[in-house]
Amino acid sequence: MPWLRLYARVLALLGAQKRTGWWLALANLFLVCAVFAEPILFGRVIDVLIRQTSDATIHSNVLWSALTPLLSAWVLVGLFAIVSGVLVALFADRLAHAQRHVVLRDYFEHVLQLPTHHRDLKHSGRLMKIMLQGTDALWSIWLSFFRDHLAAFLAIVVLIPVAFFLNWQMACLLLALCVLFVAMTTFVLRQTDVLQRTVEHHHSALAEHVADTLGNVALVQSFTRVQQEVGTLKTLSEQVLRAQFPALSWWAVITVLSRSATTLAVLAMLLLGLWLFTHGQISIGEIVTFIGFAGLIIGRLEQAVGFANRLSLEAPKLREFFEVMDVNAQVPEAPNAREPGRLRGAITFDAVGFGYDERRQAVDAMSFQVMPGQTVALVGPSGAGKTTALALLYRLFDPQHGAILIDGIDIRQFTLSGLRRNIGVVFQETLLFNRSVAENLRVGNPQATEEQLRQAASQACALEFIEQLPHGFESLAGERGRSLSGGERQRLSIARALLKDPPILILDEATSALDPKTEAAVVQAFERVRQARTTLVIAHRLSTIKRADVVLVVVDGKIVQAGSFDELHAKEGYFSDMLKSQFILEPRSA
Ligand code: ADP
Repeated sequence: MPWLRLYARVLALLGAQKRTGWWLALANLFLVCAVFAEPILFGRVIDVLIRQTSDATIHSNVLWSALTPLLSAWVLVGLFAIVSGVLVALFADRLAHAQRHVVLRDYFEHVLQLPTHHRDLKHSGRLMKIMLQGTDALWSIWLSFFRDHLAAFLAIVVLIPVAFFLNWQMACLLLALCVLFVAMTTFVLRQTDVLQRTVEHHHSALAEHVADTLGNVALVQSFTRVQQEVGTLKTLSEQVLRAQFPALSWWAVITVLSRSATTLAVLAMLLLGLWLFTHGQISIGEIVTFIGFAGLIIGRLEQAVGFANRLSLEAPKLREFFEVMDVNAQVPEAPNAREPGRLRGAITFDAVGFGYDERRQAVDAMSFQVMPGQTVALVGPSGAGKTTALALLYRLFDPQHGAILIDGIDIRQFTLSGLRRNIGVVFQETLLFNRSVAENLRVGNPQATEEQLRQAASQACALEFIEQLPHGFESLAGERGRSLSGGERQRLSIARALLKDPPILILDEATSALDPKTEAAVVQAFERVRQARTTLVIAHRLSTIKRADVVLVVVDGKIVQAGSFDELHAKEGYFSDMLKSQFILEPRSA
């Protein structure tokens, strides 16, 4: 995104605060007018004094009557500048802070709705870094825009016509100095912008490495990888520094240039002023005014350069931020989408096709029907497309071909939240928040009473172990559920699904082996949760497959066999081969 577009987008994000923004702009304009009135008044005062001293006798009455209006105007202008300055400082700060939080919330909500594969693409540590750095950058740009940059821009707009009105030769020189200054700065900015992008790229890699390592401390310690991980960090740090130093050199150049610019500009104005004075084309007061102008405008331009510096430093962070914001948040909702209420749970896959890319269909012309209350087991090798097929049911993605119907209605006609309220998902890798057990269960039903929590836990064979935890339902589930065992986590997620009580349930059975007692508890919990609802299971246990009403064998995105366990068992084919090669786990609990 080019510079100006990026800048425009940052300002457009002011959203509801735009009205305050306009008031601030107006206050800035007044402020600029007040600031530039000072050198003009100063010049006039000097001219009055010089006129008086050129007379043989100084008449103090005449002097004061000439000076009083000028000095009064000066006092008024000064007061006005102070008040406007305070207002700008105060409201610019408030605006920037308030809007930072609005944007932060928007980003958070947006990221939470991103399709999973986008979240995977950007590591969650990185998404957090992009959020914090992006909103910080926005905040500092809004702040300096309203405090300095806008004033600098308006200063130029106001000053140039005033300067031409006062003395065109001096005004031309002033304009030339401004153009030279801006040209030099733009050149340096272009150099640093490219360099800074590389720096940010290395920064991101560094943050990702830290987040990844800290998330796997156990792995690092058990494989004694501390030195290697620290070594990689060191290499990444060196890369950041190597890329950063040339950018810093350019900034040193511009700092020196802008410091000497004021002196050079004042000198140039003085020289031309003296020459014009000797030719009788300017008064001393006007020279003083123009020297004041030069000091002011270079000061303002310096601020603008500082601002441009900041924008160039922040640009890569902002680009990353906008990149995430630009990802299509979720599958689109139909404009006239309707609330489905509680569905019965009849599911039809009608020649459904979906591919993550053009090369291959992960789900290929898949058709099947499930009656309300039935259980369907999807079996097949890993990578066959089972998870993808079921993700299409709760619209993580939309099929590219065919349609999925629930109770005879295309699911794209339902509101997304309404559809997802009707579907419970028990993931293979149980996802738990680092909050209390009770809070984790209430994700299924925020209004659930304590009694309902206990009941769901008991049905999911989880009550016993929860009560043995140090603080029972109030115990922390641990970071990503690590303080609980695999079987316990699974039963918690079953209890969570029971609390949600959806008419349709998607179960992704865990493949990892559990001890026989836990295994039996999990199987029992699965059995209970399946009752009275349509259930689609990605099945690994023989017990589940046996009890399913329909078994679908999925290979390469296609259903190659369908029928009851006994039917498929009796037939020669993929399923019986799978059974023979013991592809399906644990006949033990069958
Ligand atoms: P299963 O659940 O049967 O193991 P999946 O539905 O997970 O199979 O995967 C089906 C195919 O789609 C696989 O080839 C897998 O590599 C691919 N796949 C799964 N998820 C993604 C994703 N987010 N992006 C790209 N390809 C994916």
